[in-house]
Amino acid sequence: MFTANTRINARVIFTFFSNPNLVSRQPAFSGYSLAHIAFWRKFANFVKSGCVSQELKAAGAIPGRASAGINFPGYSKTGIRKSKTGRWRAAALITLNLFMIAHIIQWRIMGKTISPIEPSETMHTLQKGFVNAGFIFFSLAILATLIFGRFVCGWGCHILALQDLCGWLLKKMGLHPKPFRSRLLVYVPLGAALYMFVWPTVYRLFSNQGPEPIIPKFTNHLVTTNFWQTFPSVAVAIPFLFICGFVTVYFLGQKGFCTYACPYGGFFGLADKFSPGKIRVTPACNQCGHCTATCTSNVLVHAEVKQYGMVVDPGCMKCMDCVSVCPNDALYFGFGKPTLLAPKSNVIKRHYSLTWPEEIVGALVFLGSFLAVRGVYALVPFLMALGCAAVTTFLVLKTWRLFRARELSFYRFNLKSSGKIHKAGLVFVVFACAWIGLNVHCGWVRYHEFLGNIAFNKVHLPDELALAQLDPARWLSPSDRENIIQGKGHYLVASTTGLFVNNEALPKLAWFEYLLGDAAQSVQTLRTASAHQKDESKALSLYYRGAILNRLGRYDEARATLDEALAERDDLILARQEKGESLWQLGRRDEAVSVWTDAVRRNPQLALANNEIAGAALASSKPEEADVYEKQADQFTPNNPLFHWVIARRLQDLGMTVLAEKHFQLAGQLDPGGQTPSQR
Ligand code: SF4
Ligand code: SF4
Repeated sequence: MFTANTRINARVIFTFFSNPNLVSRQPAFSGYSLAHIAFWRKFANFVKSGCVSQELKAAGAIPGRASAGINFPGYSKTGIRKSKTGRWRAAALITLNLFMIAHIIQWRIMGKTISPIEPSETMHTLQKGFVNAGFIFFSLAILATLIFGRFVCGWGCHILALQDLCGWLLKKMGLHPKPFRSRLLVYVPLGAALYMFVWPTVYRLFSNQGPEPIIPKFTNHLVTTNFWQTFPSVAVAIPFLFICGFVTVYFLGQKGFCTYACPYGGFFGLADKFSPGKIRVTPACNQCGHCTATCTSNVLVHAEVKQYGMVVDPGCMKCMDCVSVCPNDALYFGFGKPTLLAPKSNVIKRHYSLTWPEEIVGALVFLGSFLAVRGVYALVPFLMALGCAAVTTFLVLKTWRLFRARELSFYRFNLKSSGKIHKAGLVFVVFACAWIGLNVHCGWVRYHEFLGNIAFNKVHLPDELALAQLDPARWLSPSDRENIIQGKGHYLVASTTGLFVNNEALPKLAWFEYLLGDAAQSVQTLRTASAHQKDESKALSLYYRGAILNRLGRYDEARATLDEALAERDDLILARQEKGESLWQLGRRDEAVSVWTDAVRRNPQLALANNEIAGAALASSKPEEADVYEKQADQFTPNNPLFHWVIARRLQDLGMTVLAEKHFQLAGQLDPGGQTPSQR
């Protein structure tokens, strides 16, 4: 007899000896009562033989007492063979991580490398036509999955490596992550994948906005100098990996992130349904359940192979652990019918952690938490927000149960018994409240950002017009003013009540401050924003700050700020144009002309910069040169009175009065008696 004498983990026993057709994994929500465990211990005495390998039988390794456990090399104490492929997979995942580190080091040393081999990079291919290494990798991975099944997740994903590491560490601490089973949330990965990779194209197709084609023009982006451009900062990457790789495992089970958050898994799972490559079974299977007990992807292996002759669950990552541990060597990887051609069956009853009402509440909590957390403070990326939302859902529902149920446990911790909440229960509640409270606070900040953005989008004053003169009040309609005041209020709440500097709200708040005539406050706000931004958003904040400083007459500060903007983004031509104005006002006229000339060389259509060079040439008594640039400027100046007025204002500030007067007159002619001021 097997296991009568084996020290048995309750979960394993439960899995092994239930009727295979009705078998389920113990859901994470229920917890185990002592009576429950005792029942299964007793039940184990009646099990059939054949659930132990020939090796153990031959070696006489079955102990005489139930508490002794098996002590035989290559076997766990529960009598299940240890997986031999586990080591190979660990080696593959460690090698993968070492390659990733080597990739970063090579880029840091050489300044140039292959673009990130990350599936998320595919978004840039689909939206902008950038053919990069991530796109090629993801395409090949999906093709391979269509043939061999979902193996890339198990053998080549760095987040899965973290999840496995976390599971391993927890087991070393005697904690066995239990799967949280939801009917609805399992659709999150596929939904997220469609949102990331399909929705942008569908949106372009139907919104009919802008000149961008549906299928972009493809360009080569296989090599990059800015490897980290699309990744979060290290300060964000560390909590990101901690939440996705560890927190999700602790609360949702060994593959918590894969099951409820990973968008790439959504596509791999779908492709797996078409693949002929599957874990398959021979008649040697005697339904012992070792495979199911070993599978960390929560697949009911023994039940599926009995019903279908193969594993059909798209969560199977082809880790081969079940193949390795089967005491009868009944499993193998082989080709045959894909899942889609398997006859439908309802025989395998799955048990879930949630009732239907809880599923619906859970889905709403997930959505609310995701919207609250995603992009908050411009810090939380999409995948991290999905991971956070899944954990929040678990915590909300478990806390709810804690107050309603008479008995509840979590891992080996007894949270509540006989209606009394224990110390562990209180610790759980405190943690859950802190986590949920943080989510609610993020939601509050995002809510005010949202309302601020609505107001922001209602103000249609062009930047050039607003920046032509220090106080743009004359261009604001009463409704613009109303929207700006309201929007400023929301951005102020979002930025002052936040726990971190709000990179998202601050630049827009600064713009509203400027539009309301408080330019001095606006440059301060932009300084704070830019200090916490990076790349393009930082460059833009610095550009606007430099432009406003120019209007304020603080030319030295403006020049320094514009230099910072250009250091961040060398291709920000408008910053070059503004920098030329700072230099001109500082009396460094040759440098100003050289900066404007550089700007025009990069973009000959810059009407203002062409005029500025023409004005400078006139001031240096070079009429022929002035003529060339003036003609070039006229060629690209739209026949719009406001545009002429903007150019006139800027030239007037620089003391280029002849050209300024010309454009004031043109503005007046194009809009006789209209709203364009004839001058100043
Ligand atoms: S496949 Fe192997 S491990 Fe799984 S139930 Fe059958 S005999 Fe047991
Ligand atoms: S079913 Fe087998 S191969 Fe698939 S994930 Fe589970 S243990 Fe690994």
